[in-house]
Formats: sequence, C-alpha cells, structure tokens
Amino acid sequence: MNYRGRFAPSPTGHLHFGSLVAAVGSWLCARHAGGAWLLRVEDIDPPREMAGSAESILAALPAFGLVADEPPLFQSRRIAAYDAAFEQLRATDQIFPCWCSRNDLAGGLHLDGRCLAAPVEGRPPAWRVRVPDIDVGFVDALQGPQTQNLRQAAGDFVIRRVEGYYAYQLACVVDDAYQGVTEVVRGNDLLDSTPRQIFLQRCLGLPTPGYLHLPLALDGEGRKLSKSERAHPVDPTAPLPALCRALEFLDLPVLPAARDAHALLAHALAHFSPARLPHCRERAAA
Ligand code: GLU
Repeated sequence: MNYRGRFAPSPTGHLHFGSLVAAVGSWLCARHAGGAWLLRVEDIDPPREMAGSAESILAALPAFGLVADEPPLFQSRRIAAYDAAFEQLRATDQIFPCWCSRNDLAGGLHLDGRCLAAPVEGRPPAWRVRVPDIDVGFVDALQGPQTQNLRQAAGDFVIRRVEGYYAYQLACVVDDAYQGVTEVVRGNDLLDSTPRQIFLQRCLGLPTPGYLHLPLALDGEGRKLSKSERAHPVDPTAPLPALCRALEFLDLPVLPAARDAHALLAHALAHFSPARLPHCRERAAA
C-alpha cells in the first residue's frame, strides 16, 4: 500500500514550534517513504478555535517548504460522515446517552457501560462508547510497544459532547480512514489517545494505520510548549531559524548557510530515516 501521511492541526492559534515539529516530522516520514503528505484542519471545536487560525496555519506551511499533495480536508465540512459513524455505533449498541455530571463519575471516569443518572428533560445527553475491560496494544514506530487498559485509562469515553460537537477521537478515526492515512506521525501528547482511536477503529470496522509519536517539545519549565506563554508563533516571513530549530529538535542535520526552506528540507531528507529520530517522549525546545 502506498504510504499516506498527514498533518492535522487544530486551529486554536498560529503555527507554533510544537506543531511545526509535527508538520516537519510527518512530512519527512512521508517523503522518505515516497508517499503522499496530506493536511486536515481539525475545526470541530468552535469554543477552542481562534478566528483566522486555519488560514494562518495553511498560509504558513508552504513558507516552511511544507506543501501538501491534496487540498486540505476541513473537519467542519465532514459532519455528515461523523453522523453516519455515530449512527453505525448506535445501531450496533456500542454507545449510550449519558446525563452524568462530572460529580457522578468515579475518579473522573465513567465505567458502568450505561448511564446511571436519570435523563434530564430538555438537556441533551453526551454520548459515550461502551468500553470493556480490555488491553489495547500497538507498536509505535518510535516509542516501541505500548499497552493501555482502556477501561482504567479512559472508561466509557465521550464521542459526542452535550453541546452536540463530535469528539476529536471520533472525527480523527473517521477522517484518517477517509483520507486513506497509512501512518500517523504526531506529537507524543497524543500517545495516550491512540488506544482509544484503535478501539473506535475496531468498533467501526475501519483499518488501523501505523503510528509514530514524536518527542513532545517542552518549554524551560517542562510544560508542553503549546500550553505555555512561550508558544509564540513561528514566523513564516523568516522561516529559516524556526525550521533549523525544528530539524535540530529532531536530531536531523542542518545544511549550513542554506538559502531557503526547500534546501534545508532536502538536505535533512537526504539524511533521514525514521529510526534516526530521537526516541525520547519529550525534550526541551532549544
Ligand atoms: N489536531 C490535533 C492537535 O493539533 C492533532 C491531531 C492528530 O494529529 O491526530 O493537537
């Protein structure tokens, strides 16, 4: 099967260093494999979104030499596909409506496979997937074998929120399958989500792609970069410094005196192999 990779930013701000690392890492893996590199804008969580962010991210990527092979997929235009997946899960009795409040949940997890609270008239429910007591395992191409007891880690997790928004986990698996993604390359903050995604793929009869989780970029205080005040955007009008830092972060060679982003990426690609990527779970951004 031909390799198809992707970069799937959430439009919650401008392109920042952590997302540039994910974009560069996924681009290098796809190009190294002679495959396609796709974009997906994960714009299904309006309360978290920033106006203009999707346009800003999409405009910034080519300045860093990152040009996708197909037009970007916008999740906000894919609601009918999520509705269909939702109906499939409902018809096969794999999900249930839930009126439980946070206080009703033991340790924040819902474990009962059905809602114990009474339906509240006029209040829409969240919808949860029924999670059995199973270990979900996969071999991450960089982080090695992983196992998670899905019940203990996630419980009956939400696939559609009270507000009616579909959860990232559902939209992600539906669209990775729709886009024919064969290898998901992304930051390590999503390693814990992968078993939930593999479980949903099985529930929906979708294929499971390969996974490679890149080290997560941390600030000087050890916080995820995108969460800290240092998550200032990378500057697409002067892309070379941030691109050099992203390549160094991934232990890739930086062409001295490179004139443009394409030259930097071509040099890194010539020396690239996924096995050479740093195996750590997180590291400080320079
Ligand atoms: N949209 C997610 C984010 O920006 C990434 C999703 C993914 O790569 O699966 O953190």
